Amino acid sequence: MSRSAHPAGPRHADVLPEGHYSAPPTDLNHLDPKVWARTVHRDEDGAAVVGGIPVTRLAAEFGTPAYFLDEADFRARCRAWSDAFGQDADVFYAGKAFLSRAVVRWLHEEGLNLDVCSGGELATALSAGMPAERIAFHGNNKSPQEIQRAVEVGVGRIVLDSFQEIARVAHIAQSLGKRQRVQIRVTVGVEAHTHEFIATAHEDQKFGIALAGGQAAEAVRRALKLDGLELIGIHSHIGSQIFDMAGFEVSARRVVQLLAEVRDEHGVELPEIDLGGGLGIAYTSEDDPREPHHIAKALNEIVTRECEAAGLSTPRISVEPGRAIVGPTAFTLYEVGTVKHLEGLRTYVSVDGGMSDNIRTALYDAEYSVALVSRTSEAEPMLSRVVGKHCESGDIVVKDAFLPADLAPGDLIAVPATGAYCRSMASNYNHALRPPVVAVRDGEARVIVRRETEEDLLRLDVG
Ligand SMILES: *Cc1c(COP(=O)(O)O)cnc(C)c1O
Repeated sequence: MSRSAHPAGPRHADVLPEGHYSAPPTDLNHLDPKVWARTVHRDEDGAAVVGGIPVTRLAAEFGTPAYFLDEADFRARCRAWSDAFGQDADVFYAGKAFLSRAVVRWLHEEGLNLDVCSGGELATALSAGMPAERIAFHGNNKSPQEIQRAVEVGVGRIVLDSFQEIARVAHIAQSLGKRQRVQIRVTVGVEAHTHEFIATAHEDQKFGIALAGGQAAEAVRRALKLDGLELIGIHSHIGSQIFDMAGFEVSARRVVQLLAEVRDEHGVELPEIDLGGGLGIAYTSEDDPREPHHIAKALNEIVTRECEAAGLSTPRISVEPGRAIVGPTAFTLYEVGTVKHLEGLRTYVSVDGGMSDNIRTALYDAEYSVALVSRTSEAEPMLSRVVGKHCESGDIVVKDAFLPADLAPGDLIAVPATGAYCRSMASNYNHALRPPVVAVRDGEARVIVRRETEEDLLRLDVG
């Protein structure tokens, strides 16, 4: 399309409105392997291909919007994490990032453990055959029913989050004649997000028991006294989308300090520490996440060093990556419905989904990238905002991105790195039908979570 066909025209760096974006990329057709699932590339016709299948075929078969998940990539990331941490550590996939029965089976086959944080996630895990002893149960307000179920089925650990819960879990376990393996979640006074971490004054949050003021030490004291509990270690989770290891360093040091205090006071060396998840992924080409083996090496070194200094034997380490495993493996495929040029501002590209399939942009101001994937284009870059179809002006999927100026209704665009916290946080706002998740591998595509239907919606509305 010629420039004159667009009254507002493509935007160039010198006339860009304010916003958080860098200069237009030199090649809009390039699919940066940093942000796209591993098997994604373009075929000779210019369409993006995942798991050997062009997106044009996937859209025709499964419709849009839809999430397409690269199964080989998911499995490879599971293996990279478990290989990096080796035999002396445990990797727990954080199921809240995205959980389905197929995912549970892949995790099981690849030898990972699983974190759940609700009865629903526990039920999903068990129904797909995850052995209970490989499940950790989290949450700051587990119901008595959830605790009872977890203890009955024999989950490997329950992560205790409050003084009331210490007593509650002990009571339930004892009444079932069991001794439940538990960890205590502590807040170490570190909060880490992306490139920054703050090492003071972040006890003000709902999770965990503060190390400060001796709270965590008191929790250990209580847990060690209760017959229903077997205290196996201390847990710390410091944030999300973290790139810098400095926050983990402070966290590990403070957790090891507590282990040393526990040894001094009680004469017991707790055998495990869990350093949580939160490892960052690339949502845009600017992000540079670390590889699992770097992370494993750094964490092992920190813990070994701190334990040596404290005269403790090194505990078994566990980590809980969610986003870092599933995030990069999927993209959301949308069809463009309208393209609206706002003179001197930007172009609004409306797609057939929105905040109901990706709430992260509205909720956290998250950044994403986007590409035209049904074809290539040599048109100029056009500063675009990708928005959904919901009745809400904050319904933004990608705040600022460059798409080719000849973008038109009917084109397919895809947002990469939507494997984590998109389907799992999806809603029925405006009675949207939540999109399917389709696993693609070796030229075969298979629905692992089907698209919702109007019958699904109406079934809950009992009138
Ligand atoms: C959310 C969460 C995780 C996973 O976080 P990611 O950012 O997805 O890696 C791990 N552990 C706990 C306790 C969590 O709450």
